[in-house]
Amino acid sequence: MKDFVAGLPKCELHLHIEGTLEPELKFELAARNGLELPYSSVAEMRAAYTFDSLPSFLTIYYESMRVLRTEPDFYDLAMAYLRRAAEQNVRYAEIFFDPQAHTSRGVPFDVVIRGLRRALMDAETQLGVRAQLIMCFLRDFQAEYAMATLLESLPYKEWIVGVGLDSDEKGNPPAKFAAVYERARQEGYLLTMHCDVDQDDAIEHIRQAVEDIGVNRIDHGVNILEDQRLVETVLARGMGLTCCPVSNGFVTGSLKAEGIRKLMDLGVRVTISSDDPAYFAAYVQENLLALHDALQLSREELAQLQRNAFEIAWLPRHVKDAYVAEVDAYVAG
Ligand SMILES: [Zn+2]
Repeated sequence: MKDFVAGLPKCELHLHIEGTLEPELKFELAARNGLELPYSSVAEMRAAYTFDSLPSFLTIYYESMRVLRTEPDFYDLAMAYLRRAAEQNVRYAEIFFDPQAHTSRGVPFDVVIRGLRRALMDAETQLGVRAQLIMCFLRDFQAEYAMATLLESLPYKEWIVGVGLDSDEKGNPPAKFAAVYERARQEGYLLTMHCDVDQDDAIEHIRQAVEDIGVNRIDHGVNILEDQRLVETVLARGMGLTCCPVSNGFVTGSLKAEGIRKLMDLGVRVTISSDDPAYFAAYVQENLLALHDALQLSREELAQLQRNAFEIAWLPRHVKDAYVAEVDAYVAG
């Protein structure tokens, strides 16, 4: 089964590019930019990756980003992920980036996006991996800052397929960003949003995202199972949920595998992604294997998770069809 998963054509839709910053690259970028890190070795840095909640993860996550300063830094970050993705036969990825995590510490927006964009272009020609960018707003910052970031992104609209919402959900409901999302929709961006696992008011947040904001899909969102009406709405709209089992394990103590199984059985378009693989020590392939260990998934079910992902990907119909045909041919072969 390990070989089957390795060769399966994959689609990753929930991946924070800042969450792919491996310790080795962190040291390299720190040296490049003349910065000191509070760790003497890669092993010591990895040993500090002990998270038991979303906030405890976010503290180390944001602290680490200080090493990202220049356009080549962002290029190297994205290229490193895309190389790993290519090795795992990821055929297509939609990649989150958090501009405010950088502009808030003085790195210009255009430095961030130009570096990422150049890597995406090179990966397509050099590695055969296609990818698009999703711009996320940090929900623990003011809505006005998100709106300003949205406006700042407009000259680069052709390089960004949609918007998302991440960071600490506690006390930061979707409704806080209703005006930002409305403007994003008017500008032609597609819409997604984190509905993190086991949050306070999780169901009300999912309801706001689905019914009030009208997002095209949901990142995480497994708590939707607690509300039959919302499950029916998501099914009726053919919406997808981008689940991340290993990440769930770190921040909630459970992969939420049973919930994922239930969603699959109901016919919800569930997909499996890695979220922040450098911090959770698992890229998409390891996430699929962890879920398989928990649920004993069949080959057909593992293939269906990839079909789901290509189906809900923000791509033209004929491109999706070509990727789904790759999955079908792999399974048949
Ligand atoms: Zn995430």
